[in-house]
Amino acid sequence: MTRPTLLKMNKHISYKRKQLFVEDVVVSDITGSLRTPFYVYSRTTIKDNFNRFTSSLEGLNRIICYSVKANSNLSVLETIAKLGGGADVVSLGEYQRALRAGIDPKKIVFSGVGKQDFEIAETLKSSLLQFNIESVSELEAINKIAINLNKVAPIAFRVNPDIDAGTHENISTGKADNKFGIPISKAKEIYQHASKLDKIKIVGVDVHIGSQITNLNAFRQTFQNLEKLIYDLRACDIHLENVDIGGGLGIKYTDDDVEPDLREYSKLVKQILGNLNCKIIFEPGRYIVGNSGILVTKVLYKKKSQNKNFLITDAGMNDFSRTALYGAAHRLIPLSQESREATEIYDVVGPVCESTDTFLRNHLVENAEEGDFLAFLDVGAYGAVLSSEYNTRPLVPEIMVYKERFEVVRSRPTYEEIFEKEVIPNWE
Ligand SMILES: *Cc1c(COP(=O)(O)O)cnc(C)c1O
Repeated sequence: MTRPTLLKMNKHISYKRKQLFVEDVVVSDITGSLRTPFYVYSRTTIKDNFNRFTSSLEGLNRIICYSVKANSNLSVLETIAKLGGGADVVSLGEYQRALRAGIDPKKIVFSGVGKQDFEIAETLKSSLLQFNIESVSELEAINKIAINLNKVAPIAFRVNPDIDAGTHENISTGKADNKFGIPISKAKEIYQHASKLDKIKIVGVDVHIGSQITNLNAFRQTFQNLEKLIYDLRACDIHLENVDIGGGLGIKYTDDDVEPDLREYSKLVKQILGNLNCKIIFEPGRYIVGNSGILVTKVLYKKKSQNKNFLITDAGMNDFSRTALYGAAHRLIPLSQESREATEIYDVVGPVCESTDTFLRNHLVENAEEGDFLAFLDVGAYGAVLSSEYNTRPLVPEIMVYKERFEVVRSRPTYEEIFEKEVIPNWE
């Protein structure tokens, strides 16, 4: 059995007079005007997280390229842009979102193992800080496109340091068996090859070993390997301007999680990479937005089977899939703390026709009557971005709160809008 935890909540998402507030907005005001489920983000939380991250790195020549895939809503990206942040994108779509939100293209790095020709061409035409290249074939493709466009492509290689980040296997990316990066043992040879290509300008090196990392040892080893590589490259006259150390810093979701210490992390970076005369690029995603969001849902039904109680919510795995994908556990709290006590143990499940549509097992739920509203916490990262319209459930809306205002920043599509792009051909 898991208990509703007393873990400290984000100070901008908290109870006042027994009602859940996001900043100065009582969440029940939103449920009064918009059908659940929906996400709510606290803009101040995002700003605080970004500012804490960047100020812990004071003294370092640095740039924070927020990892857009964690939460790509334009209003989130606008918040980052206003703080001077850059972006780490993995598709042309994300690149265009970043530009639309006002992020400087000179602060955008383009990552990903499968960049397509049109994506490379469009970003190169417009400009970017660097391509993070993951294979020799990709290098050749970028060089060819750059020759055609008569442009010089700024590149870094993503190296795979063969390090176990100690995180869930579905979000580990720095082991030799993962599909990511070039083996660090081959890096020197590949850099030397790249240095001979016409339209390639080597500007950096990149690494990203995984996500939700709480053990700093994996970072230490990775940084040490990078440092060694940088000196090896210098010895053959290849000088890098940028060292991109990726994202991956974890957050605390439940009492069982260890919270990695930001100060320790920045100390490590400064110690190992701070004196190389390079600009350090950071790509945090989860750390910036993870605790900024909640998913508000309504209890549709309570149901008893032979030996289990089920609580059926109107949010499903199509709206929030971290549990189905990674077995992630998120705290669930009531919008109103009025009177009722935690009484029963439930499996909290969604309405989607899949058994993995289960958010919590054997969980003591406070205040759960049919029609009550509940909120999953810490769903700002890898929440709405992973939602789908499976079961033809419309894409889940997103709300942003800033101080005493809330705005719908992605609305729920109508059924008409969902069907609009589909065609029934006339076969006869
Ligand atoms: C996903 C990803 C990130 C962000 O990871 P977080 O764990 O959210 O910080 C950064 N860089 C790359 C290349 C990624 O794929």
